[in-house]
This record gives sequence, C-alpha cells and structure tokens, in this order.
Amino acid sequence: MNKLLPLFGMNLFELEEVCLKGEQKKFVAKQLAHWLYQKNVSSFEEMKNVSAPFKAYLQENYCIHRSKYLRYSESVDGTRKYLFHFEAGYTETAMIPGEKRTTVCVSSQSGCRFGCSFCATGAGGFSGHLTAGEILEQIYGIDENQEISNIVYMGMGEPLDNLQEVLKSIEILTENWGRAISPSRITVSTIGLPAKLDEFLAKSNVSLALSLHSPFPEERVELIPAQKSNSLEDIIRVLKKHKFNQHRRLTFEYIVFKGKNHSYKHARAIGELLKSLNARINLIPYNEVPALTFQSPESYIMNQFKKELELQGFICTVRNSRGQDIEAACGMLAAKENNPPSE
Ligand code: SAH
Ligand code: SF4
Repeated sequence: MNKLLPLFGMNLFELEEVCLKGEQKKFVAKQLAHWLYQKNVSSFEEMKNVSAPFKAYLQENYCIHRSKYLRYSESVDGTRKYLFHFEAGYTETAMIPGEKRTTVCVSSQSGCRFGCSFCATGAGGFSGHLTAGEILEQIYGIDENQEISNIVYMGMGEPLDNLQEVLKSIEILTENWGRAISPSRITVSTIGLPAKLDEFLAKSNVSLALSLHSPFPEERVELIPAQKSNSLEDIIRVLKKHKFNQHRRLTFEYIVFKGKNHSYKHARAIGELLKSLNARINLIPYNEVPALTFQSPESYIMNQFKKELELQGFICTVRNSRGQDIEAACGMLAAKENNPPSE
C-alpha cells in the first residue's frame, strides 16, 4: 500500500495542488484548510461540504495525520509538559496557563545541534527537524487547543535552523484561511543566525526574542558556541534593517547566571550595545540543569540587575519560570530518549 501523505501541515498552495490532482476546483482547498485548521477535524467524513467522490479520493491517498501526544505531566502551578513522538524523535511541548492568556511553548526540532553550554536540550544532542505539521500538532493536538491565545517558539531546537518549516507553520497559524491568529501573539526565540534571521524577518511579521545572555563576545561564545561564526555585531546589523514596534516586538532574552553575567559592567555594555534598537529586555533566572555547573540567581540579584538595566533606559521584565517541578521551565525540555514514556 502507498504511504498516505498527511494533509495537516500543508499550506493553501499545497492543498490547491491536492485539489487539482483530485480533479477539483482550486477553491475547494480553502474548504480543506477550514476543516483542518479551524475545525480541527480528525477524519475526512467530518468535512461536510466536500463531495463524496473527492472524500473517497482523499481517503485513498492521504491521511489527516494527527500524532496524539504520548503523555503529559502537570505542575503544581498548572503548567503541563506534553511528550510527542515524531519521525525525528521525542519532542516536548509546554502549556502555560495564565489569568489572561494560555501560552503554548512549541519545539521546532527534536533536540538541538547548537550545544549551548547551559541548556538541557543542547546537552541531549540533535535527532532531527520537525515538519510544519509536527510543529502544529503541538498546538492542535493538546487538550487546551481551544484556549490557546499565545504561541512561543521557545521549546526544543533552534527555529532558524529549521527555517522553512517554521515559516510554513507561522503562515498556517496566521493566514485567514488557516488559524487566523494575530502575528502579534506569536514570538520566535533564536540565538540569531544572521543570514537566516534576515530571511525570517523579511518573510514573517511575528515578534522576535533574541537570546543575548552576555554583551561581551568572549563571554557569549562560552555560553553559545555559535557566537563564533554568528557574531552579535552581525546579528545587530540585521536587526537594524527591520522595523519593530508594539505589534512586532523585539525582546532580548538574558539568562542571569549567578555570579557570572549580572555586574554593573554588564549592564553598561548592554546599554551601549542595544542603545539604538527599539527593544526590551526579558531577564530569565537560570533554571539549573543536573550535571551542569551554572547556578540559579536569588531573586534579589534579579531585581538588582533589572534596576540597573532600567537605569540604562530599558523596559525590563523578569520571566517567572513556570513548571519547574516537572522540568517544563525554560531550557529544561530534554525529552530524554533514555527515559522513554510508559505507554
Ligand atoms: N534555540 C532558541 C529557542 C529555544 S530556548 C534559543 O536558544 O533562543 C528558549 C530560551 O530558553 C532561550 O532564551 C534559552 O537561552 C533559554 N534557556 C535555555 N536553557 C535555559 C535554562 N536552563 N534556564 C533558563 N533559560 C534557558
Ligand atoms: Fe539550542 Fe537554544 Fe538550547 Fe542553545 S539554548 S542549545 S540554541 S535550544
């Protein structure tokens, strides 16, 4: 039997091709997109306005492809961590409920190949890229699908290392024929790979979070080895080419490592480096990863450093890490393959 191709994860152009192959008019593609991305159906039978012969044709050649998550764990604060098994390997997704919003933190890869020295995902190595459909399954396939208001690409992997699939998933989420979410509710986090960053900013209009962690190249390279060939200088040059405002926000993420990167000297250098950018700073207290030596800062350290950055003229927020007890907090997603799910 032929391998059935999944429709879920196709953009309008690809769905139009499916329709043409099945001898349908192009406009039927919009109906398919509606059933897939607005109604979240799991079978062709549910597609009420699609003709019976075309449904039969779809059934023979395609599947919808909904990978059900394998399991989830739930934190005392309500955060959930879902485990999926995709073609590339195990992948985790975090769902963070809030008073005014429900945020889902999706992965773009299974593992990551950038090996940042502080990150659990990096320590676990790289298993492969996720498809656009697999990125979307982490939204449509979890129990809170209906409630999700915000999406952050801050799970496992480096989004710009899987740029085309990430862009396609964003297209499906934001276009009117897709989920029709406002791009201002989506944020992609990256260490910044200049050429891909430029393409990403040109081809999407979602918000960007850039992982800074140190204003000093010699210190940043120890944390993020990719800094060696993807310098802050080049990253900032690319950022300056694009426009950021209250709809498309630019945020610098800055993990605070106890005793390492929160001195007055750091605050001054950050001020100098980012002065001509319309950016805010999000301070993240380091979440300790077993076997790594970096330490979490006390909250007074976070507050002190926040004040110093505010004196430099920045709007600065502190991210309160959720889901620590289930290892769902920032940088803790590891989907350990040596710890497979009990199914
Ligand atoms: N690869 C991308 C996106 C995934 S990581 C990136 O690095 O930006 C999302 C955020 O979590 C990044 O800012 C990353 O630096 C941060 N992070 C990684 N490990 C962490 C940890 N142990 N504690 C706190 N933040 C961490
Ligand atoms: Fe990859 Fe981001 Fe972790 Fe670095 S911090 S290893 S880029 S997931």
